[in-house]
Amino acid sequence: MLISEILKRKGDDVATTTPDSTIRSVVATLAELKVGALVVSADGATIDGIISERDLVRGLAADDSSLMQRTAAELMTADVVCCSPESSIDDLMGQMTQGRFRHVPVLEDGSLVGIVSIGDIVNARLDELETERQHLTDYISGR
Ligand code: AMP
Repeated sequence: MLISEILKRKGDDVATTTPDSTIRSVVATLAELKVGALVVSADGATIDGIISERDLVRGLAADDSSLMQRTAAELMTADVVCCSPESSIDDLMGQMTQGRFRHVPVLEDGSLVGIVSIGDIVNARLDELETERQHLTDYISGR
């Protein structure tokens, strides 16, 4: 199965923030949108980085009293692993497991066209397994 099939189902919405946004506003956006990460982008199309709950936890662990006033650019990961709509779900699962991250932005011709999370991938795999199970049941019972 390809990433494009996940995007067909969930759409192309990507929650973003700008590099100069404060951590206070990043936290508010994550809470409001009920997501675990924001793509950091100055223009809404190209990627400057990604900031996730885990980066905020690291910031909290550093016991920095000015954390809320710091910027997304200071806490984000700048070296972002991306995929294309033609990437396979199996390949991406491997990359996420190895790299220990749960979000991957999707790029087409250098522009942001979606994002997939580990939750989207698990749901897609469960659907695939259910379809396979149904086919096997139909085959065995001669339907
Ligand atoms: P996550 O598991 O997605 O909450 O992220 C865990 C850590 O990996 C955080 O430091 C993120 O900034 C970073 N991260 C998240 N997604 C990616 C990605 N696609 N490429 C590189 N780093 C990422």
